[in-house]
Amino acid sequence: MTVAATTCTHHLSLDSLLDELRSGSPISGQQACQLTRASDEQLPALLGAALEAKQRFKPGIITYSGKVFIPLTNLCRDYCGYCIFRRDPGQPGAHTMTPEQVLEVARAGQKLGCTEALFSLGDKPELGFPEMRETLRRLGYRSTLHYLEAMCELILRETHLLPHPNPGLLSAEWITRLAAVSPSMGLMLETTSTSLLEPGAAHHNAPDKIPARRLRTIEEAGRQNVPFTTGLLIGIGETPEDRVDTLLAIRELHRRYGHIQEVIIQNFRTKPDIPMRDWPEPTQGEMLRTIAVARLLMPDVNLQAPPNLSAPYYDELLDAGINDWGGISPLTPDFINPEKPWPHLEELKLRTEAKGYSLRQRLPVYPEFLPALRTRTGLLAEKLEALTDREGYARRSMAA
Ligand code: SF4
Repeated sequence: MTVAATTCTHHLSLDSLLDELRSGSPISGQQACQLTRASDEQLPALLGAALEAKQRFKPGIITYSGKVFIPLTNLCRDYCGYCIFRRDPGQPGAHTMTPEQVLEVARAGQKLGCTEALFSLGDKPELGFPEMRETLRRLGYRSTLHYLEAMCELILRETHLLPHPNPGLLSAEWITRLAAVSPSMGLMLETTSTSLLEPGAAHHNAPDKIPARRLRTIEEAGRQNVPFTTGLLIGIGETPEDRVDTLLAIRELHRRYGHIQEVIIQNFRTKPDIPMRDWPEPTQGEMLRTIAVARLLMPDVNLQAPPNLSAPYYDELLDAGINDWGGISPLTPDFINPEKPWPHLEELKLRTEAKGYSLRQRLPVYPEFLPALRTRTGLLAEKLEALTDREGYARRSMAA
C-alpha cells in the first residue's frame, strides 16, 4: 500500500474542531494533523474528547498482560540508532538462548502467574552473520524463524503460557507457520517516514525498517486474519505529521482487514550507549497528544502505552485514552529499555484504580479476537480454552 503524506494544508479553528469531536465519529487525517499541534490551553479539551472515546469503547477497564520477555537472540543485522538491545557476534552480551533457557524462564514466569511468552529478537541475524548460522546448525535449525517456531511450540506444549512472537519482517508463509503456534504476533511499524532511512537518521543501515516492507508484513497478517500488534515509536526524528501518517496507515490496514488488535504508542528514551545518545526525548505533552489523536482516529482499537517509559507520571497516559498497559513482567527486565523497570503490579493497580478503572490481566490476544481463534483445532486451541475465562481474559493472574 502507499502511504499518503498528510500535511496540514488549511487551518480550521481548532476550538470548533474540538467541539465537533463530541460526535464520536473517527476524525480525518487533516483533523488529526491539527490536533497533534494543540496548544497547552487546548490540550485538556483534546484529552477530554479522547477519554470520552475510550469510555465508549471499553468503559471502566484497563488491561495488562502478565508476561515473560524472552530475548531468543540479540544478534541483529540492523543498526537502529536508538537500539541498546542488538549485538554483533563476539560483542559482550551477545547471546542466543538455548531451549533449556527458554523453558526455564517460561516456567519461572508461570509460577508467578504470567500468561504471555513475548519472543523479542533480532531480525534474521543468520543473513548477516556466519556465527549465527553455526549456532543454528548446532541447535538443529535452518533459520532463526525455524528455531522460533520450535520454541513457540515448546512453550505451548510444556507450559501454561501463550507465545507472542515479535521477530521482524515475515513472509506470508512464515505468518501462516507462526500463527499455527501462537494466537497473535507483532511488528512495530514505528514510522512511515522514509526520511529516517537517510544517512545520520535513526533507520540508516536498518534495511528491515523500510516502512513499505513493514506495511507488507502487517497487511499479510491481515489477509490471514492473524490478530496483530503494531504501533509507533515516537521521538526518533519524525515530525508530528509523520505520526499522523503512521496512524493513518495502521487505520487503513485495520479498516481493510480488521486484524489490528492493539496499537502501541512508545516513546524513545535515550541511553548513554546508543548512537542517538544526544537526541532529545519526546515530552510527556507529545505522548499525550499522540495517544489522544490515535484514540480519536481509531476509537474502537485497543491502545497501549508502556508505563515504565513514562514513569513516574505514567498514570497521566490514562487521561489521553489508552486502555492497556501492555506487558508487565514480575521476572524479566524490559530488554529494550533495561534502565526502565516495569512498575510493580501493586503500584500499577493502585494508580489505575485511583483513576477510576479496574485492572484486568489479559492474554497476549485480546478478548474480542478470541472467537475467530476458537475455530482452530490442536494444541493452540486447547491452550486458549484452558487459559481463558468466560469474558476472554486470563483465567489465572499474577498476584498484586
Ligand atoms: S531495534 Fe530491532 S531491528 Fe533495530 S537494531 Fe534493534 S533489534 Fe535490530
